[in-house]
Amino acid sequence: MTNNPKMTLSEKTAREWLNKRGVTIEDIAELVMFLQQKYHPDLQIEDCIENINRVLSKREVQNAILTGIQLDILAEKKLLDEPLQSIIEVDESLYGVDEILAFSIVNVYGSIGFTNYGYIDKQKPGILQKLNDHSSGDCHTFLDDIVGAIAAAASSRLAHRAVDED
Ligand SMILES: [Mg+2]
Repeated sequence: MTNNPKMTLSEKTAREWLNKRGVTIEDIAELVMFLQQKYHPDLQIEDCIENINRVLSKREVQNAILTGIQLDILAEKKLLDEPLQSIIEVDESLYGVDEILAFSIVNVYGSIGFTNYGYIDKQKPGILQKLNDHSSGDCHTFLDDIVGAIAAAASSRLAHRAVDED
């Protein structure tokens, strides 16, 4: 998929940055499974991956990924000005812009994405728990919301398609 010659620079970079920050498509696919398995018992991991790939092909999704990860990296390198540096570095709970940015991803496939996003953000399964471990010294203030939002958007797409097929 990353070798697709027609892929834009934004999509290629967004995918590379997700990988570099420790998030694989399979990690996100597991989150989609977590959200959708109870509604679609026959759901295969390949279906989840296909829906995630479609989500990642959207420009607004790529923009959110690039912006969020860039801010995480700058905070990790202590390159932001105060007070933003401290706010992002300690993942201050009242900051909220990380969630707002993630909403631009959730939005892509309509309002059921918000329900999925809220649920997965509370449960923090799999990779989300790993990203929320602040003991590592890595900063994933934006990335955890972005990854949850990609999974929520892919789940919405999958759910809409299932309804259309019935
Ligand atoms: Mg966050």
